[in-house]
Amino acid sequence: MSLFQQTLRQFQNAAQKMKLSDNARKILEKPEKILQVSIPIKMDDGRIENFSGYRVQHSTVRGPAKGGIRFASNVDMDEVNALAMWMTIKCSVVGIPLGGGKGGVTVDTKKLSVREIEKISRQYFRAVSPILGPKKDVPAPDMYTNPQIMSYFADEFSQIAENFLGVVTGKPVEFGGSVGRNEATARGGVYVLQKFLEIKEQTNLKKVVIQGFGNAGMHAATILEKEGFQILAVSDSSGGIFSENGFNADDLEKIIDSKKKFGSVQNFENAKKISNEDLLKLDCDILILAARENEVTEKNAEAVSSKIILELANGPVTPDADQILINKNIAILPDILANAGGVTVSYFEMVQNQINFYWSEQEVQKRLKEIMKKSLLEILEIQKEFSNDMRESAFISALRRIEKVLQLRGKI
Ligand code: NAD
Repeated sequence: MSLFQQTLRQFQNAAQKMKLSDNARKILEKPEKILQVSIPIKMDDGRIENFSGYRVQHSTVRGPAKGGIRFASNVDMDEVNALAMWMTIKCSVVGIPLGGGKGGVTVDTKKLSVREIEKISRQYFRAVSPILGPKKDVPAPDMYTNPQIMSYFADEFSQIAENFLGVVTGKPVEFGGSVGRNEATARGGVYVLQKFLEIKEQTNLKKVVIQGFGNAGMHAATILEKEGFQILAVSDSSGGIFSENGFNADDLEKIIDSKKKFGSVQNFENAKKISNEDLLKLDCDILILAARENEVTEKNAEAVSSKIILELANGPVTPDADQILINKNIAILPDILANAGGVTVSYFEMVQNQINFYWSEQEVQKRLKEIMKKSLLEILEIQKEFSNDMRESAFISALRRIEKVLQLRGKI
């Protein structure tokens, strides 16, 4: 089953359960707009490489499309379609007035020079810019893109539009970014996790394992350690490290340094090395999935032995694995809620760019916390009504809002 088919299956199950109208279903099953572009680049050695780029707007029913741009070697139209649909649902889960979009370039940035990455970024953005704009579609960072790349995007847009800052979020603070955006995905996830533990009277659960040590995973580790959780293991694409007593703040700083300098957490010496496969089997309370999609499948789900899963990555658990985990009584805080802190602070960034007045870190965190807590509570209420899992409840919460707007706009 392709990633888009998996997403569609989640959507259709929720639609059936909540009795979404057929008319709404027909509109939401297909993306509104798809753009595929070629990005021919003269590489440092003089060769031309022609990369493929994509931008998909799944829905603009509730507002401008919103969603990140991913640079990775396995990016394709199917993946971008799936991620765009999740963005529509995610923005609606947290009730921010935005739709869903996503973009990407099929490229392995690890094989490129800084100059080549800049060229690809600028050319990709020029190619997709006809469908972008602060009121149409606003990209952000995702896997292997970052605030520097967002700055290139904003700079490119400044050539064709006056109000260029609002065309992209996740910019550096010095260039129209919002404080707190970098760590927003992790922080939003932590707010959801803490509120969930409080409601379920499980605040004694402290042992955390994290798969994926990029923007989302790294910040989750440092924030949770400060909040008194014990970080037993972390990993990246080259493998993981484990410490029985947990990594303290000093260790985490060194692990982050080592990841930045050598590209791998395994360069940190004072820990036992483990494979990504074994990391998933570790006995822990909370497993954080912060790498990428389809990491937990029907093949390895049975071996997972945490009590809670926090999905900071998009789509890290396949639908078949979902069922296995639910049968094992593992509570899944689903991606469309758990990682929505990123898009929520991106929305704050859009607001700040529009009014040209910037909030303090305290203000950003306070507003983010309110939204994440409220969204969780709404989902738990829906869960009681339908006695179903949290992913389906989150979908239902989102689809109710979208269907209402479709009705108000006279579309269905
Ligand atoms: P990133 O590129 O900063 O980090 C990805 C990390 O995952 C890297 O450390 C990489 O080595 C690791 N990784 C890749 N494959 C792995 C594997 N098989 N096993 C273990 N580790 C692996 O990306 P990010 O921005 O942190 O995004 C991670 C996930 O979170 C993605 O699914 C992304 O869509 C999602 N997400 C990110 C944001 C955000 O604001 N950054 C927001 C919402 C969702």
